Amino acid sequence: MVKNTNEPSLYPAQDREGCIKAVREIMRVRARGSRPLAFVRTYGCQQNVADGEKIKGQLAEMGFSFTQNAEEADFILYNTCAVREHAEDRIWGNVGALKNIKRRWPGVTIAVCGCMMEQEHAAERMKKSFPYVDLIFGTHAIHLLPQMMSDLLLNSRRVILRGNEKEDSEILEGLPLVRDGNLKAWLTVMYGCNNFCSYCVVPYVRGRERSRTPEAIEAEFCEILAAGYKDITLLGQNVNSYGKNLPKPVSFAELLLRLDRHEGDFRLRFMTSHPKDASRELIDTIAQSKHICHHIHLPFQSGNDRILKEMNRVYDREKYLSLVAYIKEKIPDISLTSDVIVGFPGETEEEFEDTLSLIREVEFTSLYTFIYSPRVGTKAAKMPDPVTHEEKSERMARLLALQEEIAAKRCGAMIGRRERVLVEEKTPKGSLSGRTGGNVIVEFMGDETLVGSFCEIEITEAGNYILKGKLV
Ligand code: SAH
Ligand code: SF4
Repeated sequence: MVKNTNEPSLYPAQDREGCIKAVREIMRVRARGSRPLAFVRTYGCQQNVADGEKIKGQLAEMGFSFTQNAEEADFILYNTCAVREHAEDRIWGNVGALKNIKRRWPGVTIAVCGCMMEQEHAAERMKKSFPYVDLIFGTHAIHLLPQMMSDLLLNSRRVILRGNEKEDSEILEGLPLVRDGNLKAWLTVMYGCNNFCSYCVVPYVRGRERSRTPEAIEAEFCEILAAGYKDITLLGQNVNSYGKNLPKPVSFAELLLRLDRHEGDFRLRFMTSHPKDASRELIDTIAQSKHICHHIHLPFQSGNDRILKEMNRVYDREKYLSLVAYIKEKIPDISLTSDVIVGFPGETEEEFEDTLSLIREVEFTSLYTFIYSPRVGTKAAKMPDPVTHEEKSERMARLLALQEEIAAKRCGAMIGRRERVLVEEKTPKGSLSGRTGGNVIVEFMGDETLVGSFCEIEITEAGNYILKGKLV
C-alpha cells in the first residue's frame, strides 16, 4: 500500500522512543551482516551536510553503523540538493542506478530526502518513476526518521512525507548527531530563508527563518569544543538576520561575542552573510574578536544594479562596495569569498562586464561561480532568457580567467608572511596540508603528529589557490 501524506503530525513525537526500539529489533534480524549498516550520501551545501549529520545520529540511535560501500548496506539514503538543475540531474541518475542494488538485495531500504524532495513535482516523480525507493521525505521531516522507518518496516508501507510552506517545522533540539570529521564542525544557528531572491528555490524548500536560541547554540558549541573540534562554522542562509524573531531578540554580532568569549584553541567562522543586512556592528565584532577568522563569505551574485534588482537582492553595487570598503578598513587582512551567478535571464554583455569590474575592484580570495539555472516555481524561471548557453559558458570562462589572475596575485602577495595554519591532513605527496584563517590551503613539510594542531608557517611559494611554506 502506498501511504502518501503531507501531514507530519501523523507521527506524534511521543512515539519516537518506541519507534527507535522497534527499528532496532527488526534491523537486528534483517541485517545481512553481524550488525545493520547504513550508507548516507549528502549533496549540496553545508546546511545539507549538517542535516546529514542529524540523519546519521538518528540512524546510530536505531542501531546502524556506517559504510562507504552502498553494495553492502542495509539502508541507503541520498540527502539531495535542489539549488541547480545540474545537481538534480546527477541525483536522478544516481537514484536510477540504485535499482540494480535493490535487485541484488531486495531487503535493502532506500531513502531519498532533502531539498529536492521538498518540491512537490520532484517527490511525485520519485514516487511514480522509482518504485523501489521506500522512503521519500523533505527537509521538514528529518526529525521523524525513526517514526517513518518503523512505519515502513512494521506496516510494509512506502512513506512519502513532505512538509509544507505554511507549516514550518518547529526546531527540535537535542537530536543526536554523528559528525563528519574530527577537526571541522558545522553548527546550525538558524533554519530557512525569508529573502526570496528571484532565482532561488531555497525559501520554498526550507521554509521561513527560524532561529535557535543562543542558549541551545552555546550548549552545542561547548560540546563541540569539548570533543576537540578546532574550526567551527556557524550556519544559516542569512546569518545576519539571526535572532530577529526570537522572543528576546538577539543580534548575530551578540551571538558571535557570546561564543568568542570561550577559552581555547579554536577558530570560528560563519556563512552565509547577506550583504543587505551585514551590519557595521558585525564587522567591528570580527575586528575585535579573539577567535573569529578574518574571512567573510559575502555573496554579491552580480555587479550590475538592474540585475541585482531583478534578482531581488535588495542592495546595489554601491552599497556592496561601500560595505567592502568598511570591511577592508577595519580588517586589513580580510579574506573575502563570494558567490556569483553568470547568465541571469536577460543579462546583457555590458551588465556582465559590471560583474567583472566588481570582481576586479574587490579582489576576492576565491569565488563560487554558477551559471544561472531555472528553478520551478521561482520568479526568474518565468523571465525571458534570450542569451544562449554557449554565450553564458563563454562569459563564465572569462570570469574564471580573471579570478585566476586575481587569486594568483593575492597568493603571491602572501610570500614572506607568517600564517597560523590549522593542519588538516598528510597529502599523498607526503607533505602536510592545512588552511589559514582566510581559508587558503597551505602545504609544508612536517611530522604527521602535527595534524589537528595550529602551526606558524612562513609562506615561501604561491600558486593560484595554494600556498607553500615552512614551519617556523
Ligand atoms: N543563502 C545564500 C546562498 C544559498 S544558495 C546567500 O544568499 O548567499 C548558494 C548559491 O547558489 C547562491 O549564492 C547562488 O550564487 C547560487 N544559486 C542559487 N540559486 C541558483 C540558480 N537558480 N542558478 C544558479 N545559481 C544559483
Ligand atoms: Fe536563496 Fe537568496 Fe535565501 Fe540565499 S538569501 S537562500 S540566495 S533566497
